Amino acid sequence: MEPVKGGTLVKLPDSVADILRAAEPGAPLASWALRFAGSLPNVIAVLSGMNTPEMVAENAAIMRDGVPLTPAEYEVIEAARDALAALPGVPCTDCRYCVKGCPEGVHINTIMQSLNIYDQMGDAYRAQENYNWNTGDGKASACIQCGACESVCPQHIEIVSQLERAVKLFE
Ligand code: SF4
Ligand code: SF4
Repeated sequence: MEPVKGGTLVKLPDSVADILRAAEPGAPLASWALRFAGSLPNVIAVLSGMNTPEMVAENAAIMRDGVPLTPAEYEVIEAARDALAALPGVPCTDCRYCVKGCPEGVHINTIMQSLNIYDQMGDAYRAQENYNWNTGDGKASACIQCGACESVCPQHIEIVSQLERAVKLFE
């Protein structure tokens, strides 16, 4: 996780962020993630990226005062999750069945993730960054359209056409 102060790892779409902001006005959006992780059973420490002593102090205050989440706050998270799920996107579950049989080593799941950051979050910068950093030699343009991935995808995603879209967007 990036520092709680100043933002989140991925910019949330307004339809999701507004639910969190309405529930806790003034609370950094990423504090929800920090507190969610800290409220899980048997978790004794949660680390997020912190660059300054002020960020350490802010994160420590959130964990000291805001854990565990209340039942009402879990309902807020459910509502935010429903709003996120309602956004259009590729229904990839990151199972990676497709990746195992790809003769070209295309990072299919990561590419689907980038497409969802682009489509659902409306965050072209982060989508491109994820694509650049995490696809390595397995970029969408390496696909030879053999179709092996589509035959094993439990979500019946039209992977080849999604990869073509990724080439246009990210390469
Ligand atoms: S269609 Fe493309 S991505 Fe899918 S298995 Fe074949 S080469 Fe890999
Ligand atoms: S098999 Fe389908 S759902 Fe699973 S990672 Fe690949 S594209 Fe996503």
